Amino acid sequence: MSQVDAAKVVATCRESFLKGNVKTYDQRKHHLECLLNFIKDHEKDMVDALKQDIRKPSTESIGFEIAFARNETINALNNLHEWMQKEKVEKPFLMVGKDVHIQSEPLGVVLIISAWNYPVQLILHPLIGAIAAGNTVVMKPSELSPATANVFEKYLHNYLDKDCFTVVKGGVPETTALLAQRFDHIMYTGGSNVAKIVMKAAAEHLTPVTLELGGKSPVYVDKDCDFYTVGRRITWGRYVNTGQTCIAPDYILVHRDVQDKLVSAIKDAVKEFYGENPKESKDYGRIVNDRHFKRLVKLLESGTVEMGGETDETEKYIAPTMLVDVKPDDPVMQEEVFGPILPIMKVGDVDEAVNFINSREKPLSMYAFSNNKKVVESVLHRTTSGGFTGNDVLMHAAVDSLPFGGIGNSGMGAYHGKHSFDAFSHKRAVVIGDQKLESLNAIRYPPYSEKKDSWLFWLLSKSRKSGKASVIIYGALLCAIVGFMLKFYNVVKI
Ligand code: NAD
Repeated sequence: MSQVDAAKVVATCRESFLKGNVKTYDQRKHHLECLLNFIKDHEKDMVDALKQDIRKPSTESIGFEIAFARNETINALNNLHEWMQKEKVEKPFLMVGKDVHIQSEPLGVVLIISAWNYPVQLILHPLIGAIAAGNTVVMKPSELSPATANVFEKYLHNYLDKDCFTVVKGGVPETTALLAQRFDHIMYTGGSNVAKIVMKAAAEHLTPVTLELGGKSPVYVDKDCDFYTVGRRITWGRYVNTGQTCIAPDYILVHRDVQDKLVSAIKDAVKEFYGENPKESKDYGRIVNDRHFKRLVKLLESGTVEMGGETDETEKYIAPTMLVDVKPDDPVMQEEVFGPILPIMKVGDVDEAVNFINSREKPLSMYAFSNNKKVVESVLHRTTSGGFTGNDVLMHAAVDSLPFGGIGNSGMGAYHGKHSFDAFSHKRAVVIGDQKLESLNAIRYPPYSEKKDSWLFWLLSKSRKSGKASVIIYGALLCAIVGFMLKFYNVVKI
């Protein structure tokens, strides 16, 4: 795609936006319903494409991608009317009688650049939010999941007007050409190095960005745990989608007294989930490409292989692997693993775990396991991350009322549910008054005087929140003052 073609795509979407083709409640609802039909009609095409791209098991394709996107669309349809309403806000005394509110407005043309690991969900979720918020959209699926990108390119335009919602396939050149254009918002999902390219391009036009990135999401495992349960939950979170999940447990900090119990529970769970030979399991996928395969094989040199470690380059297969005796400066601890390798490090207590976590970049997700609530809360309150789940993994991302996003190196901005609507809306501050009682404004106009100053100061000063009784006293006092002012400026004759 040349810059000229990219400019044309954006110009068409902008024209549709300015014509008002996606703005009203009925239009947004219609587009969301069309999207819902696309999801229903092409479920099988998407499942097949995901199998082709990454050997994703059907259950994971449906559970993590298609049903998830369908529910997100239904949630938007159920709540759209309410989301679009003006939001009344508390107003100061000086605004009494005026209509003061926040109006959520569409931004314009939104660019969605997405990653390959959940290629259906990562296009559809932002698209749902952008439609609900009344925008036109240019979508750029990842070139590393080409079969899924083909499904979008081939079928989506049968449901959604191409002049409003356009799929552009391609890799770096196409994304670069798009990024040279002026958008009203860019949402990027992927690695942090490319995020910097995206942000620089956006800065040229002062375009706001949402960056959904990755990073190393830690897990703390305490002494006081049911290891059978913890082992199964961590195993599922680490090896689902062959470990290629942005919020997967990336490494474990385990209390040194219980490492053996945890290791043995994870081994049992891997056998239970994927059998004696995971390579033959229909429920275990493959690494997306050679580059990632080679990168992951290098990480196997860190620590000691306690489980797995088998690889097959021709199939891009890496067995579910666990590494122990891992050191903080080992290669596997320097980058997000993003594959089926689980490094484990021993710690003396929760304080050591918290200090370790806080010495690193802010993670996208964090997990803590303990039967002692205080331990889980201690990790929660003394660290930060995009999201947090206690005694389980991934679950905070499954709640559509919770914002999904990172912090610091793991991203900026958030989406899902109403948060997507907000991410793609401008919150416009609105005050609408009338032209009456102009004499009351006299105190804000020159010529200024000490008397006006003291009135203004008094009227503008905020007071601390107080109990009901003082509100009544305050109210009465304010009425008296207004009465006095009206008299003072000869508005009323008392
Ligand atoms: P990727 O290779 O698919 O790249 C993402 C997008 O960036 C693609 O559309 C690609 O075309 C584009 N791109 C790549 N290089 C570019 C360049 N030089 N200039 C412009 N555009 C370019 O995905 P990836 O980067 O391998 O994604 C993996 C990362 O994404 C991991 O860190 C993972 O944790 C993170 N991720 C985060 C989330 C989230 O929701 N926070 C979800 C999925 C993945």
